[in-house]
Amino acid sequence: MIIKILGAESLGVRGLSCSVELKNRKIFIDPGIALGWLRHGFLPHPFQVAVGAGIREKIIRELKDTDDVVISHFDGDHCPLHEPNPYQLGLDKVKDILSGCRIWARGTENSTPTQQKRRRDLEAVVKKDLENADGMKDGCLEFSCPVPHGQRGGEENMLMMSRIQVEGETFVHASDVQLLEDKTLEIILDWKPDVVLVSGPPLYHYSSPLFNDLREKALRNAKRLSRNVDTLIIDHHLLRSKEGIDWLAGLKHSSENRVCCAADFMKREAVFLEAWRGELYKWLPVDEGWHEDYMHGKADFNDYRTGGWDALISNNRIKPCKWYYCCPVKAYTDRGELERYWIEEYCLVGNKNCIRYQMEERGEYHPDNMLPDGKIYKALK
Ligand code: SF4
Repeated sequence: MIIKILGAESLGVRGLSCSVELKNRKIFIDPGIALGWLRHGFLPHPFQVAVGAGIREKIIRELKDTDDVVISHFDGDHCPLHEPNPYQLGLDKVKDILSGCRIWARGTENSTPTQQKRRRDLEAVVKKDLENADGMKDGCLEFSCPVPHGQRGGEENMLMMSRIQVEGETFVHASDVQLLEDKTLEIILDWKPDVVLVSGPPLYHYSSPLFNDLREKALRNAKRLSRNVDTLIIDHHLLRSKEGIDWLAGLKHSSENRVCCAADFMKREAVFLEAWRGELYKWLPVDEGWHEDYMHGKADFNDYRTGGWDALISNNRIKPCKWYYCCPVKAYTDRGELERYWIEEYCLVGNKNCIRYQMEERGEYHPDNMLPDGKIYKALK
């Protein structure tokens, strides 16, 4: 089972999108993306917009050979949309791909009118009625009945969790549950997972002492889950604030089993761009009217894209790969012979999945024109 997390707060955007590759089946869960609209008094920084655009392209690429698509619920950061804002994923970009996939979608009960409309929009573009996947099972794939989005409250806005089990390995995707409900936790534990990807509590909303009970509950549940799961990946709502980042660091420190964020799991540096938004504006001021111009196609993010990575490095937020400054991949990129994708995906975030890096560590020969994914790019000399 190969689990690839594509979008999450530790990777720079809102969402919890991931693909799971099995021997003969590829499953994609929650192909959506968003950027917090207004945080710390600021709209998304253009650097975050650039990172988001890269992740949106990755989601589209990854969907192309997917057999099953799961939508845990129809919030705008978890599904493609008929009317996306400039930072989300539009249905028009993926409608042909989705038409060829089996779609497992949360039902219409216990969901908001907006979520129901988004579900109907999806049905319209794939030209079929979607079955209600709540509580269903299909071979290695299984879904929970609806569980609360965070704390149990009204009957609206519930979501479904997914379980994938093959050859003794079990993965659970528990989007937006926020670790706040004991019953939800029981379902996860009953599924006996080895790896869990879950949304942590939205500490950025808990400014008053009135929320202390919720804080304690989430921490208690996180500790309980970590004791029973080999790898616990906590991300999403939790990592939208510095307080959340510290919360996770404390939990990692005190847990015997592995606790990490999506970026750690993907063996690369984390970029908590929403939590760092205020600082990004200080390090890299944004031209007045940029968002309006971007929305109308009159501005792009290219300068902010390069400036943003430089700012993260110079302010010690990320550490590039130790070979970066002497690696041919950097030289090709600087000369404009290679797309920046490669350095942003691997070099600048110290991605240990880089094949060149791994071969370097083993002292094995590898040609200059080998890309970080191990493929030889003959056009490079
Ligand atoms: S290509 Fe690989 S080895 Fe070279 S700098 Fe990038 S991550 Fe490091």
